[in-house]
Amino acid sequence: MISFQKTEEQELLLESLREVYKRGNFEDYFKECEKNHQFPEKAAKVMVDAGFAKLGIPEEYGGTACDDLTNVMVHEEAFALGWPSMCWVNQYLAVDDILAFGNEKQKQACLKLGLQGIKPFTFGFTEPQAGSDNSAMAAKVERKDGKVIINGHKTFNSWGNRSPNMLCIVREHKNPNPYKDFSMYLLSLKQPGIQMEKLDKIGNLMVQTFEVYLKDCEVQESDLVGEAGKGFYQLMKNFEAERLIGCTANVGMARCAYNEAVKYAGVREQFGKTIGTFQLIQEKIVDMKIKIENMQNMLYKAAWKKQNGISIMIDSSLVKRYTGQAAFQVIDDAMQIMGGIGYTNDCRVSRLWRDQRVYRIMAGTEEIMVHTAGRALIKEAQKG
Ligand SMILES: Cc1cc2nc3c(=O)[nH]c(=O)nc-3n(C[C@H](O)[C@H](O)[C@H](O)COP(=O)(O)OP(=O)(O)OC[C@H]3O[C@@H](n4cnc5c(N)ncnc54)[C@H](O)[C@@H]3O)c2cc1C
Repeated sequence: MISFQKTEEQELLLESLREVYKRGNFEDYFKECEKNHQFPEKAAKVMVDAGFAKLGIPEEYGGTACDDLTNVMVHEEAFALGWPSMCWVNQYLAVDDILAFGNEKQKQACLKLGLQGIKPFTFGFTEPQAGSDNSAMAAKVERKDGKVIINGHKTFNSWGNRSPNMLCIVREHKNPNPYKDFSMYLLSLKQPGIQMEKLDKIGNLMVQTFEVYLKDCEVQESDLVGEAGKGFYQLMKNFEAERLIGCTANVGMARCAYNEAVKYAGVREQFGKTIGTFQLIQEKIVDMKIKIENMQNMLYKAAWKKQNGISIMIDSSLVKRYTGQAAFQVIDDAMQIMGGIGYTNDCRVSRLWRDQRVYRIMAGTEEIMVHTAGRALIKEAQKG
């Protein structure tokens, strides 16, 4: 039987995170960073110095061993404390990708950045005509005069201004089957031919997201990540981990909003009573709590499976679809409980409400989660 009761080590780690967070007293700083569309560098440095960026990076690269479930719990806790989503210092996803597919030089370079809490690369997957349909990606790699050249147009590249590289998927035009024609390259963003235009988002304002034009950008054959022609399959593996880590933001942000709303319900008075005495408010609180419990259980089980080498192809889609929608409802209910104050920038719930919405879209929409898990569930049923 699987038990998700936290071990003593996990409790200690989470407690140390709470302590560092509390001491940092970051809330006003986050508000300022959000207003100025700036990454919270100072707060991130505190967390990097406290060792949280190192978790999950193998010891031989200077990191601290940490299993997937524990790292998922740490991410979730950070967001539950109020850390802004998309800004956590630990680079779990990049580390997972590069350990799975990178060569030794790429591992050395990317993990070194990961130790400093720097995202080693932005993900260069989405293109204007290729969102949910990744097989429509058209950026291409060619060999000309002994050089390896990439041309294309990527979009929604988050952290483009803070990452030195892009993990870029390109067509080789060697195989007519698009699924067998993609390759992954680690492309430097600090070279001529790169042009970026910032997108004007409605949430996650501390992270900037760009449209990126790649014109005659040069890479080396040794910049290939994984195997030529296997880029699509590597991307699908990336999505499994990306969906899992996105869910930590869903669960954490939902917990953060829940905690604020429940406290408020216990003190805000209307009609001569605290609003928490009204059953309509209690119903919301109870349903929010049920959703949080369900989200955590699904997430921990998927993380446990991943760390035990069990496929999470289906689980990652189920948990992403469920936590995206459930967290949205929890945060929306929290805003409702807080009334007008919840709709102001003074209240953290308003930031959570804006920031969480993207987790129903990014890294596979909730509709695409039906597309991926639905087919797989039917196929699975035929085996039994
Ligand atoms: C803030 C933000 C950050 C992002 N960061 C990155 C990043 O760093 N790197 C990166 O590569 N990408 C990034 N993305 C892109 C993101 O992954 C895509 O937006 C997402 O995959 C959806 O693609 P799309 O926006 O083109 O929507 P579309 O694919 O055009 O979908 C539009 C609608 O149609 C629905 N739809 C599409 N196909 C189907 C179908 N077969 N069945 C049912 N419904 C369907 C979708 O579910 C959606 O509701 C980011 C996006 C955002 C908003």
